[in-house]
Amino acid sequence: MNDSVARGSCLCGAVRFRVSLPSKWVAHCHCTYCRRAHGAPFVTWAGFPDKQFSVEPDAEQPAWYESSPGAQRAFCARCGSTLFFEGERWPTEIHIALAHMDGPIDRAPVAHVFYDSHVSWFEPGDGLRRLGGPSGNEALDQS
Ligand SMILES: [Zn+2]
Ligand SMILES: [Zn+2]
Repeated sequence: MNDSVARGSCLCGAVRFRVSLPSKWVAHCHCTYCRRAHGAPFVTWAGFPDKQFSVEPDAEQPAWYESSPGAQRAFCARCGSTLFFEGERWPTEIHIALAHMDGPIDRAPVAHVFYDSHVSWFEPGDGLRRLGGPSGNEALDQS
């Protein structure tokens, strides 16, 4: 048992993966792409150096597609769980949908990003910073 490794899987268990800690960051993304890809008001992502990540040797590889120019998303080809993200903007990172991890990892979410595209029918009550703008990561007028 090595507690510096976190594990996770898709809904059906065909895609199982492991990732070495530490993570780089965790944030809630409210962008339109994440919303549509996951069918949810926002997606909580954990970012890791991609070299710390691997699909378990006896598991199925996820299916990847280009979800927008320069960005790829991965899902389980059996159950459709939306799992991972990689983009040219973060060339050495993989982003893992935190809800697919077996349990909590080494850090909690720190912010809401792309919050200017958030849905009107959900209001976070966690007091975390709400960021947006073209990068998704700039301070917003909170008035
Ligand atoms: Zn699956
Ligand atoms: Zn997003």
